[in-house]
Amino acid sequence: MACSRGGLTAKLRALVGARACQPPLSLRRAIGLTILGQADTRKVTSEGAERMIAKLGQRVLIVGAHADDIEIGCGGTAHRLLSEGAEVTALVVTDTHYVRGDVVHRDSSLAQKEAKAAADTIGYQTYFGTARNNDVKVNSELVYFIRDYIEKLKADTIFTHWDGDAHLDHRNVASATIMATRDPRNLLMYRTNFYMSPEAFRPNLLVDITDNFETKMKALSCYRAELERNGDTYFDWVRHANRVSGATAGVGYAEEFQIVKYYLKSNPVSMQKE
Ligand SMILES: [Zn+2]
Repeated sequence: MACSRGGLTAKLRALVGARACQPPLSLRRAIGLTILGQADTRKVTSEGAERMIAKLGQRVLIVGAHADDIEIGCGGTAHRLLSEGAEVTALVVTDTHYVRGDVVHRDSSLAQKEAKAAADTIGYQTYFGTARNNDVKVNSELVYFIRDYIEKLKADTIFTHWDGDAHLDHRNVASATIMATRDPRNLLMYRTNFYMSPEAFRPNLLVDITDNFETKMKALSCYRAELERNGDTYFDWVRHANRVSGATAGVGYAEEFQIVKYYLKSNPVSMQKE
């Protein structure tokens, strides 16, 4: 199902904002993927967009707690990987139904309908689990639920929440995914909110999503109920966060990830020469 655009067009324009000032295309293409070392030593690949699959993976599984987490945290990277021919699948472990007291903050059927529109906009399929919102528990059931998808898809790259996230569900999904990710060579954590935590998110891998940012924001605009409930706060944060990340990497927009493990195929010496 395509995302309804009509009334959202003007709003979307405002959310996406003016295209950020960008360095020359040749430079942007040269910075396909940026890895930041612990000593803040920046190693920049020169292989451009067409080789990002080689740096990450061909079969990608993105695990999130709620509908919209995946698009917020790595919608641009997912779109870019898909455009390069990767297989990308999204797994939301809750049914997204959110009730507090007698108030339904998020209706499951509506949220999943919006999630499908967002997924269609980016180009992947989203599967849902049955865990309850704000009640995700780290147990063998959740670990094997995620692991079954990893094995069924033969996923080689896994994205999940940051394990220091202040949101209970996000943190527990991160823990369960880390436990479930045994064989896949890459495991990367994304941040999906701006809540303060005593732990620090330490991004050490940036992906240039300048050419994918507009599609990401279109996907986010499919979450109309959340947009009406929260206003533009989240969209503003996403736009600014991706822009600041882009500036860090010298590109228009970027998404940030913290590496749990990353399998480097080429030897480090040749990578530095690239
Ligand atoms: Zn969430």
